[in-house]
Amino acid sequence: MRLDLRDIIHVPDAQKTFRLQVDLSDLDFYGRRPITRPILAEGSVTNHAGALVLEGTARSVLDLACDRCGKEFSREKVVQLDSLVAQTLEDDENDEIILLDGTELDLDEVVTTAFVLAMDTKNLCSDDCKGLCAGCGVNLNEEPCRCKPEVDPRLAALAQLLDKETE
Ligand SMILES: [Zn+2]
Ligand SMILES: [Zn+2]
Repeated sequence: MRLDLRDIIHVPDAQKTFRLQVDLSDLDFYGRRPITRPILAEGSVTNHAGALVLEGTARSVLDLACDRCGKEFSREKVVQLDSLVAQTLEDDENDEIILLDGTELDLDEVVTTAFVLAMDTKNLCSDDCKGLCAGCGVNLNEEPCRCKPEVDPRLAALAQLLDKETE
């Protein structure tokens, strides 16, 4: 969706609202496609004393897999879209300002960029997820470890290293 700001660019206090959906269900993220549902974005652009201020949110429910135990889970993701919008950049201005294409704001691009940059690189089903046992492979959130004390995987690994060194 392209939002034409022609009517508010030179009109103090004027505002334009928007609401759109963005489909990023094909987007590959570490071998998964977590944004299975449409992203719903809504907000406004307001002329504050000549400065165009974009305010809004983009939200969706992500389908994720825990990086520690592998369990699949869903979690809502809400991303703020707050930014400044301008027709031209003056020297030394920071690049957090979004440039208009003529008088139009490319909202699909704004929402896509903000949402993708806000994606987490690590996802845990819960902060205290215990993960899988490296020895017996059970999900430690659901059942106790089945390893016998005498086959502690750390000691087994250490023994392997020591064997190699004596070869
Ligand atoms: Zn987990
Ligand atoms: Zn175990």
